[in-house]
Amino acid sequence: MKTSIIGFPRVGEVRELKFATEKYFRKEISADELEKIGQELRKKHWQLLVNQGIDFIPSGDFSYFDTTLDTAVLLNIVPKKYQELNLSPLETYFALARGYQGEAGDVTALAMKKWFNTNYHYMVPELDDETQIKLVGEQLFTTFNEAKANGITTRPTILGPFTLLKLASYHGSKKAKDFYEEAIAAYVEIFERLNLESGEWLQIDEPALVLDITSEEVQQFKELYTKLLAKKGKLKVLVQTYFGDVRDVYQDLINLPFDGIGLDFVEGRKTLELLEEHGFPKDKLLFAGIVNGKNIWKNNYEDTIALLGKIQLFGKVVLNTSCSLLHVPYTISSETSLNKEVLKYFAFAVEKLTELTDLKNIIMNKGEHQESLEQNIALFKQERFSKNPQVAKKIESLTENDFIRVPVLAKRAEIQKEQLKLPILPTTTIGSFPQTKEVKQNRAKFKKGEISEAEYTVFNQKKIAECVEFQEKIDLDVLVHGEFERNDMVEYFGESLEGYLFTEKAWVQSYGTRCVKPPIVWGDVSRSKPITVFYSKYAQTLTDKPMKGMLTGPVTILNWSFPREDISLKEATLQLALAIQEEVLDLEANGIKIIQIDEAALREKLPLRQTDWHSEYLDWAIPAFRLVHSKVQPETQIHTHMCYSEFSDIIQDIDNMDADVISFEASRSNLDILNALKAIDFQTQVGPGVYDIHSPRVPLVTEIETTIHNILSKLPIEKIWINPDCGLKTRGIFETEASLENLVLAAKKVRGGV
Ligand code: GLN
Ligand code: ZN
Repeated sequence: MKTSIIGFPRVGEVRELKFATEKYFRKEISADELEKIGQELRKKHWQLLVNQGIDFIPSGDFSYFDTTLDTAVLLNIVPKKYQELNLSPLETYFALARGYQGEAGDVTALAMKKWFNTNYHYMVPELDDETQIKLVGEQLFTTFNEAKANGITTRPTILGPFTLLKLASYHGSKKAKDFYEEAIAAYVEIFERLNLESGEWLQIDEPALVLDITSEEVQQFKELYTKLLAKKGKLKVLVQTYFGDVRDVYQDLINLPFDGIGLDFVEGRKTLELLEEHGFPKDKLLFAGIVNGKNIWKNNYEDTIALLGKIQLFGKVVLNTSCSLLHVPYTISSETSLNKEVLKYFAFAVEKLTELTDLKNIIMNKGEHQESLEQNIALFKQERFSKNPQVAKKIESLTENDFIRVPVLAKRAEIQKEQLKLPILPTTTIGSFPQTKEVKQNRAKFKKGEISEAEYTVFNQKKIAECVEFQEKIDLDVLVHGEFERNDMVEYFGESLEGYLFTEKAWVQSYGTRCVKPPIVWGDVSRSKPITVFYSKYAQTLTDKPMKGMLTGPVTILNWSFPREDISLKEATLQLALAIQEEVLDLEANGIKIIQIDEAALREKLPLRQTDWHSEYLDWAIPAFRLVHSKVQPETQIHTHMCYSEFSDIIQDIDNMDADVISFEASRSNLDILNALKAIDFQTQVGPGVYDIHSPRVPLVTEIETTIHNILSKLPIEKIWINPDCGLKTRGIFETEASLENLVLAAKKVRGGV
């Protein structure tokens, strides 16, 4: 029996790659220096895998930005405008990833999208009628040879043609299937090259196979690989799937002449069933994803061994992770302040390697490894999560009415109109104001104990006062306090809730050089004291205009945390909802009349298969949001905010959140979403952002006016709010103030004209 992994976290143990790449962006190091750091990291990671006893070692999972982009570049999927910059290969690569503005020209970056059901983002390959797919890159072979020079034969990995062409966007008249022949030729060339370089295995990732696949697509997949695999020569090809099961193509998949098939037994709910129903060919290796590549918890050896017992009845098994380890932090040994009693339950990337080897040794019955099995069994026998019986009781006693706010939305709108006396097209912002250097320094100093709590608070109050003064000056209608006391919003709430744990170095790549450090749900979650009331109340004393209270919703907090696994996501979300509900009611009791509950990441855990959307997710996620605000008075106006504009397909569910007002990012894809809102006669008042905060550019008054008129051509004026499309924390002060001033002027002009 052998062990394998799909990919390893490339940013490095202490995010070396992130820092080196950012230095390169700032021109502090040269391309050669960056490449040298890349080489060192690759070498270190390969060596680590060897030392940990992993048999199949991937190469090509390393990337300076994103592996989907790597495959696109390898295959010449680079739109003309980037090629015409005539930059070096590395600079062209980064121009695709981040845009380029300089002597050579001015181009925006490729679009970026969420990678399946993870918080990782990939660059969307862009094809037009001039695109010619062909093998032009060298990186795949260079890294393979680099490993070989270090004495390690790796298994190169690339994204497969089916997934690549399914995820790509098409800007001409040609569509995915028009590129199939070219893609086949290019992948055949990769086979030939690897045969020449005496490669043994190639891993082709085809995660799109776990999505809902039409019979036409199944047919295309079959044709694609029938042609492709006929040319593989001596090379062995592993087709690797992850993030679910492959129920729509299983039979076709096993009948194709692959040498190995990688299946996910963790997220793939039906994978075992598929095996039992259709068997598995004896002449292929079954790469069984049994160590979870997404969670941070230790593997339960007893359960896994039992599962493997069943899997082994069907074929020759290689122990594998369920997906790339990219989605988990590097190692628990970087954590110095967490209690050992807690740490012993965790397994990050490095520890997951040990688990694979442990499992292999236990199964191959090497006596000396029984000890690790016994230890693992003992660990799982202990009661580990801190339980709070009161929380359980509260959840048990919830009834249907706890999820329904009265009176109905339309009635509330009348009452609120009367109370709040806002003009038509009211203006507001999403919450945060620029997190300047001094704001960050203040927080850092407080955390390090360099300033007292009083000093820390006074500084924040001063910033709040300035922020309120500015908003009054430019005459915004609904004000915010600016969120100067918050770092990452999920970490901020997690820190104030019981049941959460925080790590020091457990970073996970989100996109490019950006990493996130999700908090860990360790026990039952509850709120022991008010979280936001102090600053919101203070801010309200500074103005007669309504001050929006600012909270993060339960679904988003959970989706951006590492959840526990002994209770359902639904139960964990309900616990959070109850905690945030207490905060909402406290804000209301303290005179806050408008409360925004952000659900920025609502879409994050939406199941990959549409048939599961409601039963597995929306049926509890939407009610959890309603639970948070169901108890407020009719006068209190509830807002929510969502970050991704991609929700046309769940628009009815968003309306069912029953907020009074929702704001979202729409400045970049206005029409689709406005049409969707119109089509279902969306009831909630909406603020589709009128300018894009992701760019430092200041929108002109006339531009904003045009955007507002566009919105008004689709939706009734009494339902529209005017706001930027997201929080302003990542922006500079200058552009923020200028943009908001223009926003208010534009709203006033449109009001004047109607
Ligand atoms: N209130 C938050 C802010 O303004 C919302 C951010 C978000 O949804 N990502 O920063
Ligand atoms: Zn947002």
